[in-house]
Parts: sequence; C-alpha cells; structure tokens
Amino acid sequence: MVGEEAQPDDNKVQLFADAAKLAERYIRHERHGRVFPDAQAQEVLKGLDDWSLESPRPADRVLADLAEIGEAAAVRSTGGRYLGFVTGGTEPTALAASLLAAAWDQNGALPAMSPMAAAIDAIAARWVVELLGLPTESVAVFCGGASVANLIAVVAARDSLLMKQGWSVAQAGLRGSPPVSVITSTEAHSSVLKALRVAGWGTAEVHIVETDALGRLRVDAIPHVPSPALIVAQMGNVNTGHCDPLADLAAWAEANYSPDEYWLHVDGAFGLWSAASATQRHHATGAELADSWATDAHKWLNTPYDSGIVIGRNGLDLRRAMSATAAYLPGQSPEAVGGWSDDLREPMNLGLQMSQAVRAIPVFAELAVLGSAGIAELIDRCCRHVSELAARLEQGGVEIPAPPGLNQALARFGTDEVTNAVVTATQDGGVCWAGATTWQGHRAMRLSVCDASTTEADIERSAEAILAAWRSVR
Ligand SMILES: *Cc1c(COP(=O)(O)O)cnc(C)c1O
Repeated sequence: MVGEEAQPDDNKVQLFADAAKLAERYIRHERHGRVFPDAQAQEVLKGLDDWSLESPRPADRVLADLAEIGEAAAVRSTGGRYLGFVTGGTEPTALAASLLAAAWDQNGALPAMSPMAAAIDAIAARWVVELLGLPTESVAVFCGGASVANLIAVVAARDSLLMKQGWSVAQAGLRGSPPVSVITSTEAHSSVLKALRVAGWGTAEVHIVETDALGRLRVDAIPHVPSPALIVAQMGNVNTGHCDPLADLAAWAEANYSPDEYWLHVDGAFGLWSAASATQRHHATGAELADSWATDAHKWLNTPYDSGIVIGRNGLDLRRAMSATAAYLPGQSPEAVGGWSDDLREPMNLGLQMSQAVRAIPVFAELAVLGSAGIAELIDRCCRHVSELAARLEQGGVEIPAPPGLNQALARFGTDEVTNAVVTATQDGGVCWAGATTWQGHRAMRLSVCDASTTEADIERSAEAILAAWRSVR
C-alpha cells in the first residue's frame, strides 16, 4: 500500500463491466442471423446522423446504443461463415487478452515506458520466429498489419543495400543515391506496390515477373536485373493461396548476385503461417532463406485487428531504417553498435510508430494457450475446411479453376455473368459471405477460410448456400 488508497473510479469500473456484458451479448449471437447485414439492418446506421457534439449523451446510453448498432449492423466476420477477402476472426484467448490490454493501456514505444510490455513483447516475438521456423537470430516486431510490415521491410532493405554500397540514406537521402533494382511478380499484393511507391520506387521501375498457373513467380522468367536488387516474393496468393518457390528463388539470387548485392523479402501476410504446420510446411520451403518477412496476426492467427508482424533476419537493419533518434549520430548507428542485442529491442526504433498498443499481448496469450501444436491444428483445420468446401462445390458441378492452396479456393460458375450473379446471390442470401475476383482473365468467387471458429457444419451450410444461389440464378 502506498499512502492513502484512492477509491477506484466507479464510473470506469461500471462502464468496463457494462461493455464486457454488451460484448458478451454480441458474441452469444455472432453466429446467428445474416453474415452481412442487409439494407434493413443497416438502417440503424442512419440514426448516427442524429448524434452531435452539441448534445452529449450519458456514457451508459452511448455504450448501449453502440451495442445495438453493432448487433444490427456489424459484419459477422467472427461467426464462422465469413469467407470474404482474407479475414481472420478472433481466437477466444486473444480476444479476451485484448480487453485486458485495453484496461492496462500500456505504451509499447520503449521498455522504459512499461517493462511488463517489453517482457511480453520480447517473448511473443521469439515464439513467432520459432513457430515460423525462421533463423533464430531473426527479430520480430509487432506493427499495424502486413501492409505496414511490408513498408518497414522494404525501407530496411533499401537502406541496407545502399549502406553496403557506401551510401547512408539517413545522412544523404535518396536523391542521387545509387539505383536499387526491384523484382517482384505480376501477382504481388497491392500493398507491396504501395510500400515500394512510398519507399521511392515507381511501379514502372519495378521488374514484374510472369507467374505460373497457380500464381507463383516463375523463376525461369526473371530477366537480368542489375545489382543491387530487392526481390519481393509472396507466400499466400490472395486468389489461389499458393506460394512462390522460395528455395528456387533464393538459389537464383545466390547464383546471380553476391550476398551483399541482394535482399529477399517475403510478403507472407497469411501464407507464412503454413510454416507452423508439419502438413503445410512444404509450401514454406526456403522461407528461412529470406532477409525479411511480413505477416499478419489479425488474419490467420485470429488476433483482433490491427496486428501485423515484420521480421528481419538482422534486427540492426530494421533499426537503421526505423530509428527515431537519428541513426547517423555518432554511437547511434547500427554500424557503431557492433551487433544486435536485446537492449536494442525498442519498438519505436524498429517500426513506424512511436506510441503504440502492445500488440504482442493478445499474440502472447493465444500462443501461451494453443502452443505450437494448437497453432498447427488451427492452420491444418482451415486448410481442411477450404478443401472440403471446394470438393463439395465441385461435386455440385462447380468449376474449381485452380487447386486450392492453403486456406484459399476459387470457384467459377460457367460464364463471368453467371459467376458475378452467384456471388451477389450468395451475399444476398446471408448464410455466408464470399467476394468476387478476376483470376487469369475470368471472374471467380473467392473463398477464404481464415476464421478460427469455422466448423465443418459451417462449411456444409456455406456449400449448400452457394449451390442454392447458383440454382437460383440459372
Ligand atoms: C492482406 C494481405 C496484405 C496486407 O495486409 P494488411 O494486414 O491488410 O495490411 C499483404 N499481402 C498479402 C498477401 C495479403 O493477403
């Protein structure tokens, strides 16, 4: 006891309990009703126009009203039958731990701000590296999502490659720097091209390599590209789920460049997690040969948003690019410190943000509960579900234009027009939700099983709903 104990803030205690109750009510119903709110359910959103800064409402009222809006209009992406984009649900422990983390409200910028946050962050980061089978010296850093992770990695690659050419970006900037080539594939995720653009490469400057029938970069089609070169590979094509042949790509790079002349980055937003499963790990062969990796916790790991992870084989490369204390000052540069040590694990100096949530907390809690066996099971289960879904559709006469990879599948219903109509009818039906995509020039329904709560019954119901939607438009 330190001196006089103040009373806890009753209002805060009450509101937190209320919010937990209201969240509980939502969770109890998240698997019922429509997956995507129809126009009538979305009517509730119009009421938001009546809210104003001039007429404040009591807090309990605001929470109750918000809860009603959520119950009517939240997309049930946590309810087992949301198959759109690549959208994770919430693993129960991760969700619950995020509530605790919200109550703690720790600032994860620096260990000095919260030794507890730093301790949890360091262990969660080590577990992630271990689960993904990456080199043990690699440094994982939690960030807002894979887009942010790609950006951090691309900047770290750029600055490292240029440093090896004797050019400090921190000191001399980019104007007048030696050129760095970039190689990626026609199937690179839009967030990769965005990261490159933000880091100074126009899309026209990027060497874009052809892909094969599964959307994988064709190593035999890589043109001769001058060094130094940044190669951005993909694990987990958002349409087919398949991964670039990383071992071949790494061998190609090794044969064509000296070690200081290239950097291999892997955008593995969801696909990198295949490395955590013995039965899916073959998709990840060679992943450990890269220099950096971007992945998400909020997709396949099913932590709440927003939670991504950037991993550097050498933490000093992240620190050189992201240090907020001018990295070029004497004694501060990665070159000056000699080698990575855990004292350098300062999140604000390894990523884009200064103040930040301790995103490691839900990750730590989930991994502590599931362990490596539980994570492997989560990965395997989603892969099984998507294969089962594709098989059921195929039995119903649907064309599956590419063999499903990992947790993704495509489905095609004859013509583009019919395919679009089936997607719309499926969405309108409300049993499940799937989006549309264009795959190799043709429209297709895109199916992703990324929610930890999806069951076999969900897959059965979803397949039936999609087949019924097809019948309804024929
Ligand atoms: C989702 C995704 C991203 C972007 O991740 P965010 O977490 O949404 O920023 C990047 N690459 C791939 C392959 C993805 O699937």
